[in-house]
Amino acid sequence: MPKLSDVIAALEALWPPERAEHWDAVGLVCGDPDADLTRVLFAVDPVQEVADEAIRIGADLLVTHHPLYLRGTTTVAATGFKGRVVHTLIKNDIALHVAHTNADRADPGVSDALAGAIGLRVTGPLVPDPADPAGRRGLGRIGELDAPLTLTEFAERAAKGLPRTAAGLRIAGDPEQQIRTVAVCGGSGDSLFADVRAAGVDAYLTADLRHHPASEAQQAGSPALIDAAHWATEWPWCEQAASQLDEISDRHGWALRTYVSRTVTDPWTAHALSPATTSSGAPR
Ligand SMILES: [Zn+2]
Repeated sequence: MPKLSDVIAALEALWPPERAEHWDAVGLVCGDPDADLTRVLFAVDPVQEVADEAIRIGADLLVTHHPLYLRGTTTVAATGFKGRVVHTLIKNDIALHVAHTNADRADPGVSDALAGAIGLRVTGPLVPDPADPAGRRGLGRIGELDAPLTLTEFAERAAKGLPRTAAGLRIAGDPEQQIRTVAVCGGSGDSLFADVRAAGVDAYLTADLRHHPASEAQQAGSPALIDAAHWATEWPWCEQAASQLDEISDRHGWALRTYVSRTVTDPWTAHALSPATTSSGAPR
């Protein structure tokens, strides 16, 4: 049976903390390095529902993509949303470890899992990490479809490959446009438009696209845009990460079981379609 410190060392070898962005807060949030580990739960968000799920399955370690505390705090009192999570975890002997932008930049990383989930063969990072001579690490990924699909068909495939959310996918572009090459970025990806354009891909799938960057990207011509729920674009990483830890665990002969949370922690819970309208620009 491994100690928490053994498993943390393995996770930090997969996602070295020094590769995280300078503003990020990754690594161990709570937990005793000497504690024995038997069950590990992977999830995107360290929220109360996920902490409760960790208790239900008897997890000793929760590994999340998003940090619990990104900025400093002066209290972990259970009166607050985050303090309650800390209390729940510590009272139940559950450690919390975060792998965020260090997991984004890893090989394989968050966007490799996203690309795999929607049937893309990854050809390289969208923004290569200059510190990686092999050119395999970096932000986002560029991938190819085995055979071209129309934008509508590709969006359907992406909707099927990603976990279900209330928001679903938003699409911008000609429905009949042929899609062969696609850039993806798990999480908020509208800061990478210049790189997407430079890559010359047919489509870009990411999350949290905003009005102005998205409309400007459209005016510049292709690529088509697919905007998915932030949680849905990062969730495939949980399965990838659990498999990576399973392999390490087998190699060491650890009696460790991994679990992936299926709790949807996307904040949007419903979606209302606008009623059909007649023509636009009618006088009023
Ligand atoms: Zn994210």
